[in-house]
Amino acid sequence: MHRETQTAQAGTPPVARTTVEPYVDGVPGPTFYQRYAHAVGLDAERLLSELDGGRALLFPSGMAAVCSLALATLRPGATVAVADGGYYGTVGLLREELSRWGLEVMVFDQTGAPPQADLVWLEPCANPMLTFPDLDASIATAHAAGARVAVDNTVLSPLLLRPLEHGADFVVHSATKILAGHHDALLGVIVCAHEEDAERLLQWRGHAGIVAAPDPAWLLVRGLKTLGVRVPRQSATALELARRLYDQPAVRTVRNPGLGPDPVAARYTDAFGPILSFDVADGPAADRVERSLALIENATSLGGTATTLEGRFRWEGERVPPGLLRISAGLEHSDDLWGDLEQALNAIG
Ligand code: PLP
Repeated sequence: MHRETQTAQAGTPPVARTTVEPYVDGVPGPTFYQRYAHAVGLDAERLLSELDGGRALLFPSGMAAVCSLALATLRPGATVAVADGGYYGTVGLLREELSRWGLEVMVFDQTGAPPQADLVWLEPCANPMLTFPDLDASIATAHAAGARVAVDNTVLSPLLLRPLEHGADFVVHSATKILAGHHDALLGVIVCAHEEDAERLLQWRGHAGIVAAPDPAWLLVRGLKTLGVRVPRQSATALELARRLYDQPAVRTVRNPGLGPDPVAARYTDAFGPILSFDVADGPAADRVERSLALIENATSLGGTATTLEGRFRWEGERVPPGLLRISAGLEHSDDLWGDLEQALNAIG
């Protein structure tokens, strides 16, 4: 069955907020205590499992998912090789927090082969540098060297890419983004290829209490119903804006795998998700573009129905050029978005 059909028919589970359910004849049921499971969370996980083709577990944020994957499946002294140019929070967590627990972190160029490590972390359509790994080759190399592979698929979603079909051991999503899709729910997901990893993560989640609440889980199921129309539309708008930006004299570089297109990315997907990034001359020029916007929201995050733009230097520092601006295309008409971008670019001459 097509993913669009599965999501369109997601159903509308009731939001049971109760943290406890009475035992039946003295026997606790599957949702006896909310830290272990709740009904709407189980519904969301069932749907996410079908979409990605593995066993999905819900977490209260994308970072909670990243943190849980590292702490539950790695040991002190383990090495993690993380794709350069991907989400800065992932490297930040691993380097600035989990290194205190003995993890060693290295960053590598995911357009080449991964280095020797216990866990290789890939991010197709990396946020915000939009690089794309050769998944089959990278996963085969990592596995041959004894590594496990996690793929952060936040930007593409299972509608465009299903990394487990390419041999990945784990898929991670910040469901806060395109999966929930409306900038109103903070959630994360890990989808496991192997049942024993899912059982381990379930045990970890129960111990740690890093658990998504029923209300955001309900918003996720609700949001997923329209994933099949949002993803192609937002991907097409992102690519159109990238093409138009490419011809602007004030713009130095534009990044979106659909430009060109990137031949490696084109082997894996025919659409590239809602984000693009581009560079203007410097930090002050990026500030001026941000403050000249009239329609596009000058805000962080990605994957919502409203288009957002922000300079990433304020968060990522030297990891990105000072003039780098990231756009997440929403559902507005692309002519309206372009009109706003063009006038904001005119402000910097
Ligand atoms: N992965 C990617 C690619 C992201 O863009 C983000 C957030 O921006 C995360 C993970 C972390 O997700 P969350 O903000 O839901 O914790």
